[in-house]
Amino acid sequence: MSDEVSADASCCCNSLPDLAVVPMGSDALDERVFTSLEQIIERGGEQWWLYVSHCLKCSQVWMIAQDDRIYDNYYLRRLLASEKQAIIDKGQWPDEFMTYEQVLRLGITMSKPWTYLDPRSPALVSTAEDLRRERPDISLDEIAYLLAISVPDAARLLQPPTLIDRFRAWVMRG
Ligand SMILES: [Zn+2]
Repeated sequence: MSDEVSADASCCCNSLPDLAVVPMGSDALDERVFTSLEQIIERGGEQWWLYVSHCLKCSQVWMIAQDDRIYDNYYLRRLLASEKQAIIDKGQWPDEFMTYEQVLRLGITMSKPWTYLDPRSPALVSTAEDLRRERPDISLDEIAYLLAISVPDAARLLQPPTLIDRFRAWVMRG
């Protein structure tokens, strides 16, 4: 947009804490942070939210978890060169963002909960299913806590969809 600003602005890496929460959209902080970042490693597979980017200006490497389902945050964890190398050479990732549960716990403690209007939103349903896949004995209380919803709503997320739910999903898909 404003070329004058972005041309001489330095990157945000030094101003961020070692574990940073960057909300999507708000105050355009995400644009300022991500404008100099380029993804270099994608975790993929079951950890679809996880990747590594480096900064084109200062070469800082970040492990990034992207939660666009529940709290709409990026979580950035500063990596040492040796940690990046361990990921590349041995597939050894730092532990912080390895489950979606861990990512959501960061969302709970470091940002404010998002309120869904639709208690059966596809994002909530898939996230509840992911949490249960990662840890089959996770309780409904824990799922409700992680998603910042009530326990009955959490229970409904894990029930098979009713015909009405399916119809609504179909309508919303357009
Ligand atoms: Zn930088």
